[in-house]
Amino acid sequence: MSTPHRVAKVELYHVSIPLPAAFRPAWIPGMPSHENRFTLVRITTEDGIEGYSAGPAIGRERAGLGDLLGPYLLGEDATDIDLVQQRLREIAYLGWRNWWIEPAFWDIKGKIVEKPVYELLGGEPGTIRLYASTGEVKDPAARIEEVEARYAEGFRTVKLRVHDLDEKVDIRHVTETAAAFGDRMKIGVDVNQGWNIGKLADLAPAFRDLDISMIEQPLPRGGDEELEGFESPVPLCADESCLNTDEFEQAARRYQVINIKLDKTGGLTEALDLALEHR
Ligand SMILES: [Mg+2]
Repeated sequence: MSTPHRVAKVELYHVSIPLPAAFRPAWIPGMPSHENRFTLVRITTEDGIEGYSAGPAIGRERAGLGDLLGPYLLGEDATDIDLVQQRLREIAYLGWRNWWIEPAFWDIKGKIVEKPVYELLGGEPGTIRLYASTGEVKDPAARIEEVEARYAEGFRTVKLRVHDLDEKVDIRHVTETAAAFGDRMKIGVDVNQGWNIGKLADLAPAFRDLDISMIEQPLPRGGDEELEGFESPVPLCADESCLNTDEFEQAARRYQVINIKLDKTGGLTEALDLALEHR
């Protein structure tokens, strides 16, 4: 095939940016993080067009990944997204999911025709409202201070994290934070797999009374079948890391709110298809 846009180079960069203070993510209890880390990929075509993308990292776990990517991607037509998707699927068969790389190819396509990627995907410019996501479990006073700072930045929806063994602590933290904001802030809660179905049944009515707009990932990963037949008084939001389209479709039946992380679920192409199908 004659195309000037064949992949000539695949480069990985392991980036780590020091944080001003230790960050203790609610989703990995006991592992304080001192750096913001990610893997950056740069794909360069034979005619010198560069596409960039990035995926979150714990450390340098992708250090040897280039050895795997090279044989699959070098020489392929960088503008053929179907082909790129297929290659990434084949690599996943060997154990690594690499959907985070796929947007780099959209970047290349956009640069070739000098158009923003949203236009290639059929979108139009516009504004959307974002929510602020807090990441740590903190005392109510510290939570209120943090949410107040997000409010001052213009956010009107925020997501809190709860992860205590004692459900009374979770309730107290959310109650005190919600009380400090009243109608000023819409509040969601991410449990990061911290409960079981019994705790969810106990706590959901209290969260409804606090006007909490959603409860995210209340159950440990893989335990979703316990939600069959459970009627939650607060909309439940699925884990944002569905590993494939099948898992996503299953989550869509059990949860009222769905998150998509395109670096986990099929890249930009499949994530957009799923979002359009389920909106
Ligand atoms: Mg989450």
